[in-house]
Amino acid sequence: MKYKVYNVLLDFGTNTYLVWDENSQQAMIIDPAATDKMLIEEIKNLKLDLKYIINTHGHGDHIGGNELIKTNFDVPLCIHSLDADMLLNTEKNLSSYFEESVISPKADILFEDNEIIKLGKNKVKIIHTPGHSIGGICLLVEGLLFSGDTLFSESVGRTDLPGGDFNTLVKSIHEKLFSLPDETIVLPGHGPSTTIGKEKRDNPFVGLAEKY
Ligand SMILES: [Zn+2]
Ligand SMILES: [Zn+2]
Repeated sequence: MKYKVYNVLLDFGTNTYLVWDENSQQAMIIDPAATDKMLIEEIKNLKLDLKYIINTHGHGDHIGGNELIKTNFDVPLCIHSLDADMLLNTEKNLSSYFEESVISPKADILFEDNEIIKLGKNKVKIIHTPGHSIGGICLLVEGLLFSGDTLFSESVGRTDLPGGDFNTLVKSIHEKLFSLPDETIVLPGHGPSTTIGKEKRDNPFVGLAEKY
């Protein structure tokens, strides 16, 4: 698998990922954060066969580019069922607090835990990791974990927003993410990449270096 990361929503530093199988060129875009035509150009320049738009969760800083991508490529928009209503509601997706509020098209595919989608011959596994939001997911494909706002390098997602719960987040990370191989590369919704092994050791919220 190949991937590229983009930062199109500078105020929030949200990571948008394009992920693709280099044999078939089948691709997914994870969390198109803002309306930026550069994303359209990239998909075209890389000659990708875009198959899915996927939101790791429903917060406004992860969904602002959904409409732009959907209008240009007409591919299904996917999110966990429990976060689906956030797409359509500026209070629920918290964008009513932003400078510009965000409304997304409605979801076409509602994920549940352990669901599998395919890019070429590669299986992408949907892992439901509630705690930052009730319908937050991580995506696992070929040793890459796209962790949304669940797990960051030496940090975790906020749990003080509606739908957030710290104990639930810790349980999600310990049971569903720390059970993955240590060498799994973690690509978060904000900030730099890390690995499962490093976070097990150094993460001050959920690792052996726990302080909180
Ligand atoms: Zn979030
Ligand atoms: Zn975020």
